[in-house]
This record gives sequence, C-alpha cells and structure tokens, in this order.
Amino acid sequence: MSKPVVAIVGRPNVGKSTLFNRLAGGLVAIVEDRPGVTRDRLYRDSEWLGRKFTIIDTGGIEFKNEQTSISTQMRRQAEIAIEEADVIVLVIDAQNPLTPEDEMIAQTLRRSGKPVVIAANKVEDFSKVELYEFYSLGLGEPIPISAVHGMNVGDLLDQVISYFPSEQEEEYDPDIIKIAAIGRPNVGKSSLVNALLGEERVIVSNVPGTTRDAIDSAFEHEGKHYILIDTAGMRRKGRIEELTERYSVSRSLRAVDRSDVVLMLIDGSEGVTEQDKKIAGYAHESGKGIILVVNKWDLVEKDEKTMNRFEKDIREQLGFMQYAPTLFISAKTGQRVNRLLELVDFVAEQNSTRITTATINTLVREWVHLNPPPTDKGRRLKILYITQVGVKPPTFVCFVNDPELMHFSYKRYLENQLRKSFGFEGSPIHLVVRQKD
Ligand code: GDP
Ligand code: GDP
Repeated sequence: MSKPVVAIVGRPNVGKSTLFNRLAGGLVAIVEDRPGVTRDRLYRDSEWLGRKFTIIDTGGIEFKNEQTSISTQMRRQAEIAIEEADVIVLVIDAQNPLTPEDEMIAQTLRRSGKPVVIAANKVEDFSKVELYEFYSLGLGEPIPISAVHGMNVGDLLDQVISYFPSEQEEEYDPDIIKIAAIGRPNVGKSSLVNALLGEERVIVSNVPGTTRDAIDSAFEHEGKHYILIDTAGMRRKGRIEELTERYSVSRSLRAVDRSDVVLMLIDGSEGVTEQDKKIAGYAHESGKGIILVVNKWDLVEKDEKTMNRFEKDIREQLGFMQYAPTLFISAKTGQRVNRLLELVDFVAEQNSTRITTATINTLVREWVHLNPPPTDKGRRLKILYITQVGVKPPTFVCFVNDPELMHFSYKRYLENQLRKSFGFEGSPIHLVVRQKD
C-alpha cells in the first residue's frame, strides 16, 4: 500500500518549513537511530487519525547551479507539488495582504485540478481572524492555523486526509514478488527494466497500478511471478517528469512502499554520490529487501581488483547498508542481468524469514555468556529473552530488566549476532528494546 503524498507550497517566509516540522515532529514513525543514515529535510513520514502519509516541503527544494528568479523557483516548486502530491497545502501569511506571488501560485494550482487546502498561517488570535480576502484565491475556505504554536493544525489535517484516495487492499497476490528499481536519473533504471522484461518471452503485460499513473509490469520467470513497479514514469519522460525526477525522490518512495525488494542502482562509471546516499537511506528505512545493483559495468576499465575496490567503496559510503548484496551488471549488454532474479528471490525470502523464540534464546544465552552486558553505575543489564514479532523486515523485541541500561554498542552486538546466526542478507532488521515487568 503506498502512502499518499502531501506537498506544502507557498512563497518564502509564510511558514512552510515551520508547518512541515510541526507535522513531522512527534508524529514520525520510530526509525532506527543509526548513525550514517542520510536524512533529507524535504520528505518526512507522518500520520493523522491512522492514515500514514508523506509530506514534502517544496520550499526546501533547491535549484542548484541555476540562475532562477524567486518567482520561477516558486512556479517550479508548485509544478513539482502538482506532479507528485495527492493533496497540496498552500500556505499563506494571514498577517499580511496577499501578494502577486500568492496569486500566481494559486492560479497554477487552480489549473491543475488537484485538491488544495489553504493554510492561513500566523493566526495567533482566533477571535480576531479576518480571512475574507483569502477566498479570492478561488481555492475554497482557508483554514486559520498557527504553525509555530500548532494551533488548529488538526483541523487542517482533517481536511487534508479527507482528500486522500480511499485505502485499498494490496492489489496483488502475496506470493508475487514486487520489485522496484530506484536510483538517480540516468543511472539506468529504464534500461534495466527493459532488459529484465526483454528476457522474458512468456508474459509482458501492463497492469494499471492503483497508484495514479503507475503502470506495473507483470512477468513470469521459471514458473514464478513477479511485478516490476514503475518508478519514475520510466516509459514516458515528459518535461515535468524530468524536472521532478531531477529534484525529487517521492516517486521512488512510492515504488519502494509498494515493493518487496528494492533494486538500488548505482552508476558504476561514477561511483556513489550524495544523492545515492539519500535514496539508499530511504530504502534502508523502508525495511524492504535491498540489492545494490552497480550498473554500466561495461563502461568501467577493469583489472582483477576493480570489483573489490568498488565494493569496498560502497561499503564505506553506505555504511548503514552492509547487509545488502551487490551485483555488477550492464543493462546495456545484459551482463549478469540473468542473475538478478535469483538474488531477488533470495533477498525476498531473507526479508520474510521467521525464527522461533526457542531457537533464538538458546543462542542468546551463548551470546551473553561470550560477551556479558556492561554495568552502568553498578547496575547490570539483564537480557531476559528475544522474540521475533514480525517480518518484512524481521523485527525482534528484546526484553530486559531496564532499557536504559542498553547501550548502543551492545544493541549493535546483538544485531550482529542475529545476523551471524540467521543471515537476513539483503534485509534490514529491527531490534526493539522493552522492559519486562
Ligand atoms: P518558509 O520560508 O515558508 O519555510 O517559512 P518559515 O517556516 O521559515 O517561517 C518564516 C518565519 O515565519 C519564521 O520567522 C517563523 O518563525 C515565522 N512563523 C512561522 N509560522 C508562524 C506562526 O504560526 N506564527 C507566527 N507569528 N510566525 C510564524
Ligand atoms: P534512468 O533515467 O535511470 O531510467 O536511465 P536510463 O535507463 O534512461 O539510462 C540513461 C542512459 O544510460 C541511457 O543513455 C542508457 O542507454 C544508458 N545506460 C543505461 N544502462 C547502461 C549500461 O549498463 N551501460 C551503458 N554503457 N549505458 C547504459
């Protein structure tokens, strides 16, 4: 099930990032506090009344290396919002009259036909609020809020989620492995998808995804069924497509959400870039199975050490993703593309492995014996037992006498032991520490 996307737009200084932080703060799902995961301040997950969604602060999208006026930037940000979001929140400053920029953005949004909610921000005194002027934007009733104080933000969210598409059941059979290819523009996603589908003579059909405008491809390989999730309008690239692809990753996020296994592409002729790290960070946090696919290997001048060197570099750059297997391919020549599905099957299986509590705990005793937990101010952490509570990703709860005594390094030790014993290759694992009373 992919999460709806909510984009925040508006001219500078109206309070977009304040609202963004307000919406993201405190509501964010618990993610691992592992160092090294690259986070982006543009995208956050949030939740309201049980509906999960992703928020984008378009004001934070920077158009680097480009000489653009503020109004061009705002227009582009609005275009990106229109392209990517299910619902758009237009923030205006209720303490001041409307400006030509507000009108310009409103006009762009009106033409799009997308649902828009107007947040009239910086309202601190709700008894004195005058909103008549803002109706002239032609986008419905403005909702007065104070982003700084969090006032009325709930009403705003009620409106926002009322526009979400209705929740649908997962559209595919759970036995079908769903694959998403992600990575920065030009890394070879479309080429890889074509190479994968090209090999399959059996069925190549386009399945209209439930997600707006996504076209998934179903195919069969050696009797097994797969779905390739269309990531970035891979088969048709218009101007907006390129624009959004260049500046954002929310398309990839949607695809990641709906997938079982993520193929994270890296350009072998260029190495790991900052953008790769961000995209990989999202993939990691999603808990899905991950394969690092180094593409364009045909372009790399090689000797017998090149692959090892590249692999080592990836491990250093993407330190949080040690668990992901790598495959060096060329989507162009087809080199090793035939090995990919085997790896996909393996990683999908690892990501949904279940270990019995009895099996884990026989080992836990050994682990604790080999490396006893350290004491803190005279008190010693006691590991009572560990039990697996979920799959995709494998999630464990470790019951202890006092969670405060669990140090990061000891948690890391336990995670490493779980991996050593059970593998979970290509899969993140989560270990949650709880008090046993
Ligand atoms: P952005 O450029 O649209 O992202 O705006 P910011 O979130 O950076 O906010 C711009 C300024 O408006 C900052 O000084 C904020 O503290 C202020 N601001 C944001 N929200 C409110 C609000 O609800 N009330 C008041 N009084 N000031 C606000
Ligand atoms: P996308 O933007 O990630 O979907 O990337 P494309 O699949 O459109 O590929 C971008 C460019 O890289 C195109 O010109 C491809 O022909 C080229 N390309 C993709 N894969 C390979 C590869 O394995 N080797 C070489 N030499 N070029 C490739």
